[in-house]
Amino acid sequence: MSKTLTTAGGHPVAQNQHSLTAGERGPVLIQDMHLIEKLAHFNRERIPERVVHAKGAGAYGTFTVTADITKWSRAAVFSKVGKKTETFLRFSTVAGEKGSADTERDPRGFALKFYTEEGIWDLVGNNTPVFFERDPSKFPDFIHSQKRDPITGYKNPKRMWDYWAKSPEAMHQITILFSDRGIPDGYRFMNGYGSHTFSLWNAKGERFWVKFHFKSKQGIKNLSPARAAELAGSDPDYATRDLFEAIERGEFPEWRVCIQVMPEADAAKYRFNPFDLTKVWSHKDYPLVEIGELELNRNPKNYFAEVEQAAFSPANLPPGIGASPDKMLQARLFAYPDAHRYRLGVNYQQLAVNRSRSAVNSYHRDGSMRFDENGTYDNYEPNGFGGPAQDPSVAEPPLALAGTVDRHDQHKGNDDYSQAGDLYRLLSAEERERLTQVIAGTMKGLDRAIVLPNLEHFAKCDPDYGARIANKLGLKL
Ligand code: NDP
Repeated sequence: MSKTLTTAGGHPVAQNQHSLTAGERGPVLIQDMHLIEKLAHFNRERIPERVVHAKGAGAYGTFTVTADITKWSRAAVFSKVGKKTETFLRFSTVAGEKGSADTERDPRGFALKFYTEEGIWDLVGNNTPVFFERDPSKFPDFIHSQKRDPITGYKNPKRMWDYWAKSPEAMHQITILFSDRGIPDGYRFMNGYGSHTFSLWNAKGERFWVKFHFKSKQGIKNLSPARAAELAGSDPDYATRDLFEAIERGEFPEWRVCIQVMPEADAAKYRFNPFDLTKVWSHKDYPLVEIGELELNRNPKNYFAEVEQAAFSPANLPPGIGASPDKMLQARLFAYPDAHRYRLGVNYQQLAVNRSRSAVNSYHRDGSMRFDENGTYDNYEPNGFGGPAQDPSVAEPPLALAGTVDRHDQHKGNDDYSQAGDLYRLLSAEERERLTQVIAGTMKGLDRAIVLPNLEHFAKCDPDYGARIANKLGLKL
């Protein structure tokens, strides 16, 4: 026997197929509250889509510690070898809208939520170890240049190459984006990176700078541009479906979790700014240390509730894990929770997928759509009723700073080219050929005034890199 259909208020519904009308052929009555509620709720089904990372797929999983790193971090999530923590990982493309194809050439989001006993830890990364920008004041302009032309409403490579001609710090990420790894074969066959420099701090109050790497145990697999274009038409949800179906089949994707560790004092001595998001730390200088494994093993029960409403914030950091002076990270500490307050409302952290598995004892109260108990004690602190109080034992060690308050030029004298060149030189001859072919393809027909400065940037990364693209465009450098 099926359940009785009800309204949102729980009233049994007598008729769900026929509207209430005045006479058989007469108009619909406004007193048909069931119909009105259906239409009104339907009108409100959509929430604002994310400005970036709108199209995504997610799954729950388990993080297991495989090495003792308590010498670097006091975080409970790392407290002992074998410890398991529930996670939720949302993958995404970046520039496309919610209905866009999964197989577009684009970085992929790799946003990982750990439900630790000391609150949520969100590591909100990408499938690339670097980014196009190092100064957050450029971020909205950069994204505008990648999105639709505000006049015509369609995307135009002219705008992105025009922007990049004046933003050579993007060269490293551009090289990854247009390489074979720019179109991963779904979400299982790619690496994830925390990308930013983060910090770990131990029980003695010592700080270490870290980079997080997630190496796919499935290996790296990419789609050719031709196959990706075909799938964009025939199976635009290719990656979303692939992830869901693999987990349903019991083929749980796994990643080796590794870190690079830099003692705090090394940062000032390193040959470049280790907080610059356009750069990686050489593995030779700071080798990868394997610390755990990540397995995805459970599909969400409902896409909207758990994937669309999943809200990640790099500011969600339990004691023992911290931010760094990385300027892009600093901006994201603000921008992500701000986006969620706008998209989901101020109480978004109460939603099941976002809720801390450990007790939340704050004095925040009320607000739109409050749907927990709203606190079971009075709402101020300090107080005499024994309410939750601060715990100085979880304080982050202080960070020494120096310098002047100014709008410092982050680009002057910075080496934008060497690491992009290193990557180019690391690619096989066939990979270089495909990379330069794809880049030249997107530049075809553009004004020389836009193309030439970009070719100069590529040539500064590696003379062969610039020359090959120029040749394919019928130009001489
Ligand atoms: P290594 O030889 O130690 O490492 C090379 C790295 O390049 C590996 O991590 C490899 O990933 C990755 N890689 C291979 N092909 C591609 C590609 N098409 N797109 C992106 N990454 C790729 O060298 P170094 O540490 O000295 O770094 C050299 C260059 O390698 C850097 O300039 C950077 O562009 C790239 N790189 C470096 C990383 C780092 O953290 N040091 C991380 C990722 C890239 P895998 O092992 O998974 O195949």
